[in-house]
Amino acid sequence: QAKDKGKNRVCFYTSDINDRLHHYQKIGALLRSALAADSLQLYFQPQIDLHDGSIRSCEALLRCFDNNALPVPPDIFIPVAEKSGLINRIGDWVIEAACKQLVAWKGTELEKLRIDINLSGKQLTNQHLADQILQTLHRYDLLPSQLGVELTENEVIGGDLEQIGQLETLKNAGVHISIDDFGTGYSSLVYLRRLPVCSLKIDRSFLHHAMENDSDMAIMQAIISVGHSFGLSVVVEGVETAEQDDLVKALSCDLAQGYLYARPMPAEAMPAYLLGVTGDRR
Ligand code: C2E
Ligand code: MG
Ligand code: MG
Ligand code: MG
Repeated sequence: QAKDKGKNRVCFYTSDINDRLHHYQKIGALLRSALAADSLQLYFQPQIDLHDGSIRSCEALLRCFDNNALPVPPDIFIPVAEKSGLINRIGDWVIEAACKQLVAWKGTELEKLRIDINLSGKQLTNQHLADQILQTLHRYDLLPSQLGVELTENEVIGGDLEQIGQLETLKNAGVHISIDDFGTGYSSLVYLRRLPVCSLKIDRSFLHHAMENDSDMAIMQAIISVGHSFGLSVVVEGVETAEQDDLVKALSCDLAQGYLYARPMPAEAMPAYLLGVTGDRR
C-alpha cells in the first residue's frame, strides 16, 4: 500500500523480500549520505516537571530527511542503522550534536536544560562508549550532569556486566540514566534495583490504554510505586490529552512528556516555547 502513495516516496512497509532488501539498501544509502552531508538533525522535546511545571530537561530525537525533504521516522531508520553497523557512527554523531547544542545554549535561558539522548543497545557493546561520552563532554567543557542517556530495559538487561559497568561509570560521573519504554520489556523488578538508573520512562502505550483498561491502569500504578520505592523519578511518555494529564498527576508521576505540552521541535523553536511556558505561568 505504501507504494501507492506516490512514486517518489520511500517505501516503508512491505512484506516482499525483494522490496525489503530494496528498502534496507535505500535507507542505508540515505543514512550514509546524511552522515556525509552532515544533514541529520536533532529535534528536542521538553520534559515537564509535574510538581512545579518547570522544564529542566529535554529528549533529543534524531531526524533524517529523504531526498524530497520528507522525514523518515526513526522507527524505520534506527533498525536499519543497527543491522548495517551504521549505528555507531550515527550514535557518535548524536553525542557530538547534543554537546554542540548544549554549548550553543550556554549564556541563554536554555543553559540549564539537560539533553537526554537515546542510545541503542548496540552502542553499549563498544567497550569505550562511556569513556568516549565523558571525554566528549570534557572536550566541549560541559558537565556530565548536562547529559542524560535513555536505553530500553531489554537493552540494559540483555547487556552483560561489562555493559552495565559502563552505565555505572556514566552514572557515577553524573550522567542521568533513564530506562526508556519501561513496562514493554521483560525486566524483573529485582533486577531493576541493581541497575544504575535514575529514571523510569513509562511506555506511552500504558497511558493510552489506562483510560479504558483497568489492568493498564494497575500496571502504571505499580510501575510508579516501584519506581518511587527505589528512589527513581518516573516519567510518563505520550501525554496527549488533558484527561491523560489529570490522570498522570493523580498517579503522582514526576515528569511528563507528550504532544499536549510540546511536539519534538528543532533547537531554534525551543527558546520561544520556553518563553511561552514561563510567560503563561506569570
Ligand atoms: P522513544 O525514545 O521512546 O521516543 C519517544 C517517541 O514518542 C518519539 O518518537 C516522540 O516523538 C514520540 N512522542 C512524544 N510524545 C508523543 C505523544 O504525545 N504521542 C505520540 N503518539 N508520540 C509521542 P520518534 O521521534 O519517532 O522516535 C521513535 C524512537 O526512535 C524513539 O523512541 C527511540 O527509540 C528511537 N530514536 C530516536 N532518536 C534516536 C537516536 O538518536 N538514537 C537511537 N538509538 N534511537 C533513537
Ligand atoms: Mg527515548
Ligand atoms: Mg520511549
Ligand atoms: Mg521507543
